[in-house]
Amino acid sequence: MNEQQTDFLIVGAGFAGIAAAKKLHSQNCNFLIAEARDRIGGRTLTQTFEGEIVLDLGAKWLGPTQQLVWEWVHQTGAETYSTYNSGRNILSYKGKISHYTGVIPKINALSLLDLGLAMNRLEKLAATVNLQQPWQHPQALHYDAMTLHTWIRQNTWTNAARHLLEIGIQTVFAAESSEISLLFALFYLHSGDSLQTLISIANGAQQTILKEGTQGLLKKVAAPFANRIRLSTPVHKIVQDETGVQAHTSKGIIRARKCILTVPPALMERIRFEPLLPQQKAQLFQRMPMGAAMKCYAIYPSPFWRQQGLSGQVISDEFPVKVTFDVGHTDQDYGKMLVFVEGNDARYFISLPAEKRKEMVLTKLVRFFGKQAASPIVYTDKCWTEEEWTRGCYVGLMPPNTLAHLGQHLRTPFGNIHFAGTETAERWNGYLDGAIRSGYRAAEEAIQAARSNMSS
Ligand SMILES: Cc1cc2nc3c(=O)[nH]c(=O)nc-3n(C[C@H](O)[C@H](O)[C@H](O)COP(=O)(O)OP(=O)(O)OC[C@H]3O[C@@H](n4cnc5c(N)ncnc54)[C@H](O)[C@@H]3O)c2cc1C
Repeated sequence: MNEQQTDFLIVGAGFAGIAAAKKLHSQNCNFLIAEARDRIGGRTLTQTFEGEIVLDLGAKWLGPTQQLVWEWVHQTGAETYSTYNSGRNILSYKGKISHYTGVIPKINALSLLDLGLAMNRLEKLAATVNLQQPWQHPQALHYDAMTLHTWIRQNTWTNAARHLLEIGIQTVFAAESSEISLLFALFYLHSGDSLQTLISIANGAQQTILKEGTQGLLKKVAAPFANRIRLSTPVHKIVQDETGVQAHTSKGIIRARKCILTVPPALMERIRFEPLLPQQKAQLFQRMPMGAAMKCYAIYPSPFWRQQGLSGQVISDEFPVKVTFDVGHTDQDYGKMLVFVEGNDARYFISLPAEKRKEMVLTKLVRFFGKQAASPIVYTDKCWTEEEWTRGCYVGLMPPNTLAHLGQHLRTPFGNIHFAGTETAERWNGYLDGAIRSGYRAAEEAIQAARSNMSS
């Protein structure tokens, strides 16, 4: 049996794992990374089509307040461009197509007022939730006893406002509002600044695109310690005692003094722990399912919709195309139309044959943008629920009765094991920036713990 020895073992080479490695590398620590896939990146995956069309099939965007991703962008010299955001957007509601500019679609005055008031109320509530300890909120138990869906029903009066809010929520969480607790939703929105930030392009989470993709950025960051990464090495058992951990992988045993686990909570059950994970931590992980989304790209020789004065952005109530973005660069570049299918729609849509999915998406794009949309040079879509080492996206969610009661066990170390991953982040939870923060935090924790073991 192959055996390796190191001081720190990182499990997972996504943004959190590579951030932890970067921190350890900067402090000249001895470490290894065990990654289940045959590639680094986790929930980021950048692929090139037709030799030159770069597409992010996983995470794509950066927002202006995601400081730690920006540090990596500046350190590596990665090139970026702004998401196209000019011209008229399309709203398709109840079979009627209308055009509007800005973030909020043109609906009747009463519905618009209703939507504005509900969003305002939600933003104000979210701002009252402490990011370090959301379970300490005076109303934590109450908010965690209801779903976000219940809150939306209670705080909107018009169907149009309710419907648009639900589409916005689906886009942010890749899940239905009935799947998540109000307390978790409030925490998540505050963690990413606000609902407005999370749904926006300008000054929002969809503002900037990396030319070489998000996985391209990660490869650059990981280059100085690429020789420490063990690919196709899933960890299936972790045994620990007071001296350290033994990780059993498909390729042998890795012994380390400390372990940093960056595996998404929903996949934690695949690892056997000896001794067992503390019961509250295990119960918490059992309650953090992944959302579901499908990213579909239709690529054209040029962004022809721009010539019609259209932004390429659609909000619709027509299955399967509820939200679209133009993610291409200049007018002379390829037209890159990105379609999101999310929540329950995605779970159904993913089960359809690939050709059927393509046909359904293109039929809707023709309806919104005209006949030219029928013939893309590339069509591709990506089912994250079918990825063995992710099984959903974008992030592990919390249903009712979870954050208030069990949230405090998310980040607590278990003996020599420290926990990272975007789901453990206080700021930008669910996003690349949150993943980096969590990796840095867990690495610092592990270094401190190793030092105090040595001095005692
Ligand atoms: C479709 C999609 C779109 C998104 N869009 C955006 C966006 O635009 N902007 C943004 O900021 N964020 C976005 N996100 C979220 C972002 O991708 C995640 O927050 C981030 O990548 C999480 O990083 P992580 O390192 O915490 O987890 P992961 O990336 O999941 O990394 C965990 C790693 O652990 C590995 N692993 C799992 N189990 C084992 C095991 N037993 N042994 C060894 N290795 C294991 C996995 O293979 C994986 O590489 C998106 C996500 C998806 C899926």
